[in-house]
Amino acid sequence: MSRISVHDKEFELFIDEGSIRQRVAELGVQINRDYKDNPPLVIGIMNGVFVFAADLYRVLEGDVKISFVRLKSYEGMTSSGNVVSAIGLEEDVSGRDVLLIEDIIDTGRTLHHFLPELRKSNPKSIKIATLLFKPEALKFDLKPDYIGFEIENKFVVGYGLDYDGLGRNLSSIYQLVV
Ligand code: 5GP
Ligand code: MG
Repeated sequence: MSRISVHDKEFELFIDEGSIRQRVAELGVQINRDYKDNPPLVIGIMNGVFVFAADLYRVLEGDVKISFVRLKSYEGMTSSGNVVSAIGLEEDVSGRDVLLIEDIIDTGRTLHHFLPELRKSNPKSIKIATLLFKPEALKFDLKPDYIGFEIENKFVVGYGLDYDGLGRNLSSIYQLVV
């Protein structure tokens, strides 16, 4: 199916299932090579990342642990206007090589606020892997270390990404038709 609707909007096929699978495998090769001697602690940021996380995790080799966090933001409590705290991080991050995984980096706001929080737990290193990256939408100084696909600044659904709660179960990624 190359055209679908989710709620009131039309979407067209953008990145098919096979291309995603192939790219995830390539990212896995790269990550396995980079972390050959020290398998990372993978931390996924919920919700959208769960499909990518499941696929990426299974191509990683060695003693790799995975944990998920949910970010909760409190607005207006500091001069920066935003504090993000992580809920559900059960692993001890101290001294670990952390690989943060995201479904998509858009403005970069989420990670911009979460990274300082994560650093407080003294990880040895932090790298970022994202399936999708919208460079034109980026508003914060952030550089993902592993990128599945750089995409234009248009709304997408599928493969874990939702539009108002729906569309996460689509196996391919679809782009909004405007
Ligand atoms: P940020 O702007 O902080 O980088 O991204 C915040 C969140 O916005 C992402 O984790 C994702 O949940 C959501 N988001 C950004 N762009 C899209 C998109 O094109 N489609 C969907 N479904 N969610 C998006
Ligand atoms: Mg997300």
